[in-house]
Amino acid sequence: MCEAPILVVGGGPAGASAAASLAEAGLPVLLIEQRDQLGGAIHRLPAPGNASHIWRPARHRRNWARLTARLQAAAGRIETHTQTVFLGVDGQDRFLLDDRSKGLVFTRRLRAAIIAVGAVETIRPFSGWELPGVMTAGGAQVLLKETGRPLEGPILIAGSGPLLPAIAAQLAKAGNPPVAVLERGRPWNAPGALARLALSWAPMSEAATYAATLARSRVPYRCGATVTQAEPDGDGLKVGIRIGEVQEFLHVRHLLIHDGIEPNRTGIPFPEPDADVPVLLAGDGREALGADAAILDGHRAAMQLLTRLGRANRAAASDERGLQRARDFQANLARALHSEPVVPAPETVICRCEGRIYADLATLAEDASAREIRLMGRFGLGACQGRFCGPMIAALRGQPLPVTTPPRWPLRPVSVAALARLTTDETE
Ligand SMILES: Cc1cc2nc3c(=O)[nH]c(=O)nc-3n(C[C@H](O)[C@H](O)[C@H](O)COP(=O)(O)OP(=O)(O)OC[C@H]3O[C@@H](n4cnc5c(N)ncnc54)[C@H](O)[C@@H]3O)c2cc1C
Repeated sequence: MCEAPILVVGGGPAGASAAASLAEAGLPVLLIEQRDQLGGAIHRLPAPGNASHIWRPARHRRNWARLTARLQAAAGRIETHTQTVFLGVDGQDRFLLDDRSKGLVFTRRLRAAIIAVGAVETIRPFSGWELPGVMTAGGAQVLLKETGRPLEGPILIAGSGPLLPAIAAQLAKAGNPPVAVLERGRPWNAPGALARLALSWAPMSEAATYAATLARSRVPYRCGATVTQAEPDGDGLKVGIRIGEVQEFLHVRHLLIHDGIEPNRTGIPFPEPDADVPVLLAGDGREALGADAAILDGHRAAMQLLTRLGRANRAAASDERGLQRARDFQANLARALHSEPVVPAPETVICRCEGRIYADLATLAEDASAREIRLMGRFGLGACQGRFCGPMIAALRGQPLPVTTPPRWPLRPVSVAALARLTTDETE
């Protein structure tokens, strides 16, 4: 009988690195990716039929070319399924996979699994963030990468973090530079953190490339600037901005918001040390440390799995050192861009799934436990199971929403016909 494969979920840098490392060690791998193609958040390729690639820094292009060459060299041991979604683990511990190209939910006998499903974006809520015309900056970047075309009309990018200038530069290179980039943090308030960041050559030279592109396109990059509200205005939006004590308004067609990323953990099985099918997490889905670290972390997870499967001790100290450098970099970045949460206006939507607003949250007792916030406030109980509102509530109330055990999956549409044809391959 054939050897059961290791399931790798996610075809981004972490999943690709894990799959290549396991296959290079001689193990069969089942690599699944929900999109049409491998690449993940950073190397997302144009949708089929669209040839225009969006500009990415050379270092990232080289890293991805190396990973795809490794995947190709080990292709004999890697069975890749794109357009295939990991739905979750059912009551009988079966990993359910939905092959959307065939309309078929299937499951396989597995030896182990590495889950590398990346990160989700977070935002800080303000009145009007849920309006048409407002979207996350990462969502706009996906559109840009898949279609090759920037959004039309004036665009404002606001929030905090390194993704803001990256996406602004990509929009500028694609022909529609944003009217401004508004960074909420005030980096000059943290000179020590700034000085330590300057020692990280690769990300800082990448930042310099973005800064040069924005300067050439005359895009202002303003620090200490916060969006306070957005409201419909003709075919666009009127956006309120606070810079220090000054309130300004801008009229734009699109407002792109982003306040960092968090590991995507909603509905993901918890790694249990003694499980029959060991599950490890890798990449941004384990700890959001960025694209270079995701490659190291995929390798680290693969080596850890090999050790657990009794294939000699292959723990790689160099991976751990690289991950620690990335962790230090992220910590300094967080210090440099730190800003206190602002209390939103009462009518501000918090839970989009169930229409719960900030006033509903504010009526709960100051010392309400996370479970009370969930059950009495009805936050995080909708279709996305707190995937989006959870981090907002954590920032506003200082505690994360509890995750149910076992995790309750976010709702995903699966055709009834596909479920009815559920195929198993679990015979010994
Ligand atoms: C929206 C966004 C934009 C970003 N843009 C940049 C950027 O411009 N520059 C930069 O340096 N860094 C960027 N980052 C950060 C960078 O992409 C990550 O650090 C890096 O890609 C992490 O690699 P990963 O493999 O851990 O996750 P990802 O690259 O996110 O890969 C995860 C993969 O898992 C797949 N997946 C998720 N759930 C399932 C499922 N249930 N079933 C099957 N497949 C699934 C996803 O489709 C994705 O391909 C971005 C992050 C985000 C969230």
